[in-house]
Amino acid sequence: MVLPPRLARRLRSARTWITLGVLAPVGMLVVSGMMLLDLRRDAWDKAEQTSQNLLQVIERDIARNVEIIDLTLHAVVDNLKAPGVAEASPELRQLILFDRAATARDMGAMFVLDENGGSLFEAAQTPARKVNYADRDYFQAHKARGDLGLYISRPLVSRLTGIRMVVLSRRIDKADGSFGGIVLATLKLSFFGRLFDRIGLDEDGAINLYLRDGTRLMRHPYDAADIGVNIAGAPTFERFLRERSGSFVGTSVRDGVERHYAFTQVGDLPLVLNVALSTREIEAGWRAKALVIGAVVLALCGLTVFLSLLYGRDLRRRAAMQAELARLSLTDPLTGLPNRRRFEETYGRAWKSARRTGKPLSLLVVDTDHFKRYNDRYGHAVGDEVLKGLARCLSESVLRPDDLVARVGGEEFVLLLPDTDDAGAMRVAGKVHQSVAALGVPTAGIAAGTVTVSIGLATELGGAWEWPEALYGAADAALYEAKAAGRNRTCSAERADPARMHAEAA
Ligand code: GH3
Ligand code: MG
Ligand code: MG
Repeated sequence: MVLPPRLARRLRSARTWITLGVLAPVGMLVVSGMMLLDLRRDAWDKAEQTSQNLLQVIERDIARNVEIIDLTLHAVVDNLKAPGVAEASPELRQLILFDRAATARDMGAMFVLDENGGSLFEAAQTPARKVNYADRDYFQAHKARGDLGLYISRPLVSRLTGIRMVVLSRRIDKADGSFGGIVLATLKLSFFGRLFDRIGLDEDGAINLYLRDGTRLMRHPYDAADIGVNIAGAPTFERFLRERSGSFVGTSVRDGVERHYAFTQVGDLPLVLNVALSTREIEAGWRAKALVIGAVVLALCGLTVFLSLLYGRDLRRRAAMQAELARLSLTDPLTGLPNRRRFEETYGRAWKSARRTGKPLSLLVVDTDHFKRYNDRYGHAVGDEVLKGLARCLSESVLRPDDLVARVGGEEFVLLLPDTDDAGAMRVAGKVHQSVAALGVPTAGIAAGTVTVSIGLATELGGAWEWPEALYGAADAALYEAKAAGRNRTCSAERADPARMHAEAA
């Protein structure tokens, strides 16, 4: 597959890979984070649904059972008013007053009390056992107010059986509306206990049933110490009363555990029911999953970052290597000077620039005189030393950053001098001769003044030469002149016969 060049260049860039190596893990983290949040929301939705279902089931059960007892109490109050009841025999009265509901499993005793709290009739037996409950809160409450309807007492311990129970009661009015006593039925607390136990809750889950005044009637899991405790005023309970039904997350006043509370008032009864699931348990499954997913994602992110950095570093090394190779391909290995290729590139640019700006451009072609002799006499290695020395001399002779000194042949060099006229170039040539005059190779016995160079000079100004090749040819021709004139000198194309120079350059 052939990629568009821009894309291919991007793919070769270390920065692209390092950026990708950072962005990809960030993307992965964002996506998996969102996924985990979603899973967490699911866990909470499920918990909310479960608590609402449980709440509904328990509420219905309690409401129905209390309603049955209340109907029985109602029936007794009504039946007491029926004509002939007062005159009926005790056994018949028993049958008229109490129905079968009074014998239900969780019902304790059922009594009719007179206005002084003493027992008149009892569902279980005739004559009724002699008891007096004038001191009980429910009796006092009905005596004080005529409009209580069904009254549910705080948890009590039965004086007859010692069993924990609540008392459900209704007031009996005399014909003139004055207090005529109460009818009561007791409901064992074990009824609620059994009902709650049937619901399989987690270890930290709880079900509570309260009176509206904040008194706890029953709690699951059961602990006798919890029964009868009043939590009125606790923020959670205030909320139960205020909102009637709903759910929220709060901290238990009882054990400090954070729980999700789903709560409701039980029918129209003065009872508040809640199902509480611990937030730790709600999130337990999710947390285990999050841990595994988090660990895998983090490991993958780490791996991605590591591999991208590795690849990026590799690309960077490769780019540095290529840059070095490119530099080497433009450099002469012996002298370290720019080579012919580099000269040609620079020369082309300098020529165009000189033409554009109208500024002069001078070219010096430098050739070592009788160089062959050094090789022949001292050997090739010494010849190389001389060449290196010459490179130094030439480099020292130019000062401007745009000047270029290059080795273009065996013992041939050029100096390219932008923005330099013939006179300036002549001065540079003078410096070259001066510098070369001081060059020697003492180890080989070559004394200063032995090495000389001949220089051909040509300057382009105002279109004097048509092509760069013409300028170069002119400088080369001038060099030939210098050689012919006895070497160790500079000849300028300007000062020679222009017509001849042009002819030679062509
Ligand atoms: P002239 O004054 O006419 O220029 O004489 P010359 O001997 O310098 O000219 P010629 O072109 O005959 O000889 C150039 C010599 O330079 C031939 C070659 O052996 C030698 N040479 C070229 N490149 C190198 C190099 O890299 N190292 C060494 N040591 N010698 C080189
Ligand atoms: Mg030569
Ligand atoms: Mg030579």
